Amino acid sequence: MENVLVSGMRPTGKLHIGHIFGTLNNWVKYQEKYKCYFIIVDWHALTTNYENTKEIPQYVLEVLTDYIAFGLDYNKSVIYLQSMVEEVAVLHLLLSMITPLSWLERVPSFKDQIQQLGKEIATYGFLGYPVLMTADILSFNAKYVPVGQDQLPHLELAREIVRRFNYLYGDTFVEPEPLLTESPYIPGFDGRKMSKSYNNAIFIDENEKETEEKVMKYITDPQKIYKNSPGRPQICNVFTLHKAFNNPEKEEIEQNCTQGKLGCVECKKRLAKLINSTLQPIREKRKSIDKSKLTDILLQGSLEAKKETRKILTKVKQKLNILGV
Ligand code: SF4
Repeated sequence: MENVLVSGMRPTGKLHIGHIFGTLNNWVKYQEKYKCYFIIVDWHALTTNYENTKEIPQYVLEVLTDYIAFGLDYNKSVIYLQSMVEEVAVLHLLLSMITPLSWLERVPSFKDQIQQLGKEIATYGFLGYPVLMTADILSFNAKYVPVGQDQLPHLELAREIVRRFNYLYGDTFVEPEPLLTESPYIPGFDGRKMSKSYNNAIFIDENEKETEEKVMKYITDPQKIYKNSPGRPQICNVFTLHKAFNNPEKEEIEQNCTQGKLGCVECKKRLAKLINSTLQPIREKRKSIDKSKLTDILLQGSLEAKKETRKILTKVKQKLNILGV
């Protein structure tokens, strides 16, 4: 049996270069190796952004366009919209019945996210978000879930829910395993982690000029005041990106920066050129995608996902003696 992998993204904005490393790059590889379900998790978008939902439909299509432009193949993998598969919500409800509150309250990202977002979210949906994530995974009895180090507690919680369910009702679910992904730190042009909510991101779909303008705004080594001052590439955001994009000239840049032979303006121009040339084929493909077919692609994937989720849900309902079909 083919090993199943599940992963997803929230449609809370357009995708940016931070999504390439650690996520999209890996997904493209995974689809050659596993049976993949790539979800656009619109219910998850509500957990932190329930008061502002107007743009979700547009972002769903933007994210799907980026997925396809980046090389995800909807004939190879199942790409679907979470809200089109209502069975996942039922599974989430049933799993929530056996999940102790204390397990959710101790997930570190619960407090971290509140801090990062700068607002208190005291909703049932926000606290229960890891259970919904568990339902996404268990809908296909997935063996693998790609996660970064910071998301490991979520997956551990999913594994605990599986163990509890299997203990209470007999073997039903596979314990999902993490596929630890290396995601290099991608700084935005203000120096904070690149994020659409910080308004510091370079988007996949923007044009070359916009990208160059953003790169020119990057904060560099504050000690490098003049072109010929020696710099410290190891603390410079621009150099971090040269490395992330695997610039073949990175050693030369590092050396010349350190020796004061390279100015930041030129260094940034070279970076902008590198980003634009890397993104050029993706941007081209993005333009060539027939937007009128996007909803059908989602429907096709969602129907396939629904078929699988139904099988699992029927099994779960039988175990729990729930009569509704
Ligand atoms: S020359 Fe490049 S690596 Fe060195 S400080 Fe300036 S931007 Fe950073």
